[in-house]
Amino acid sequence: MNRSEQLFGRAKKVLPGGVNSPVRFYEPYPFFATSARGSKLTTADHKTYLDYCMGYGAMVLGHGYSSVIEAVRSQLDNGTLFCVPTEREIKLAEMICKVVPCAEMARLLNTGSEATMHAIRLARAFTKRKCVIKFEGGYHGAHDYVLAKAGSGAASMPASEGVLEEASAQTAVVPYNDPAALERAIEKNRDTACVIIEPVLANIGLVLPEKRYLNEVRRITEQNDVVLIFDEVVTGFRLQLGGASEFFGIKPDLAAFAKALGNGLPIAAIAGKREIMSKLAPAGAAYQASTFAGNSVSVAAAIATLETLIEAKNAIYPKIARTCDSIVDGIKDALSAAQLDCTVNSIGSMFQLFFTGEKVKDEASAKKSNAAIFRRLFDELLKRDVFIPPSQFETCFVSYAHSEDDADKTIEAYSEAFRRIKK
Ligand code: PMP
Repeated sequence: MNRSEQLFGRAKKVLPGGVNSPVRFYEPYPFFATSARGSKLTTADHKTYLDYCMGYGAMVLGHGYSSVIEAVRSQLDNGTLFCVPTEREIKLAEMICKVVPCAEMARLLNTGSEATMHAIRLARAFTKRKCVIKFEGGYHGAHDYVLAKAGSGAASMPASEGVLEEASAQTAVVPYNDPAALERAIEKNRDTACVIIEPVLANIGLVLPEKRYLNEVRRITEQNDVVLIFDEVVTGFRLQLGGASEFFGIKPDLAAFAKALGNGLPIAAIAGKREIMSKLAPAGAAYQASTFAGNSVSVAAAIATLETLIEAKNAIYPKIARTCDSIVDGIKDALSAAQLDCTVNSIGSMFQLFFTGEKVKDEASAKKSNAAIFRRLFDELLKRDVFIPPSQFETCFVSYAHSEDDADKTIEAYSEAFRRIKK
């Protein structure tokens, strides 16, 4: 029995399912990681994998980026400050307001779920309306209002037990890439406070907005006085320094961030228009509180991450996009050599494969991907030391640490995997 198998046996006794977050495809047991550096993860069995999960997108600079680690170490020497104001919180909020197009004010939080939950509450406080519109295949975290009728991320999960029906009744779910459906949903429910959208659907594989779709979403929400929330938990500081908002040139009213903001340390933020953000407690009456929000260690990591991204943005974003493009080009060549029916979606530093001949433009088309082939791909890649997210409804992430050599090895692994699948 190898070490990961042993650990899984032990874990099942104390961690429900043996893991701290749902893991599909790791049968009969997952690997247990011991360390990570750059583009690679090492396991308890001394195996090293090229990592394309990257903490589901959090590690934009790669694992253990030196200036981030340094900043965390030096903050630890000065104490883990939280629940008291620090100058560094101001500095981080100033940096966010400088680089995020919609940000006039920001509030620091811990997780993406917390950020979307408070963004929605804020939209309700501002509009004095109740209802939320989200999109099929869109994932916004683990709280009731966004899990309601989700189907996302989690995309293939059945509705969770324990989610309040009252919350789900306040949430309408409309198809993505369909402006008329959004318009109809708002017309039908004049009590709509906000529309929350992942500008790029990263939790149903990777589904991209059609040309001008996000402009239409902006126009419709503006005309109806509904708050538009961009959930930039995945795209923030990754697609561009200013996230999807900068990439597509569209300003929402509010935006939620997490993941890449701390390059591996837990930190999140909401940011947006001053008139809406001012509704947040203690300035306004919309309740928000958290013991660890704005803690100095995570803030130090975020400042170091943003400093690097700001200073080297003209080098970093083109480089990760180039690495991703070369992996995607190599995969497409290998797919046509193997004559496998597959649609590859990619943008910036993200890509995903769908084993269907159809264009993938929404949840319905994404779900046509052949799950059995994807499962084989995951296994074959793992055998070749490449770790991708263990679900076809997640996205593969390239970091600044992924090299051309990593890209070549990855293309080789995909090519061999496709040949095995074809046999
Ligand atoms: N929004 C999006 C778009 C996400 O991808 C996620 C997490 N995968 C969340 C929100 C929730 O973030 P967290 O897991 O940090 O609560």
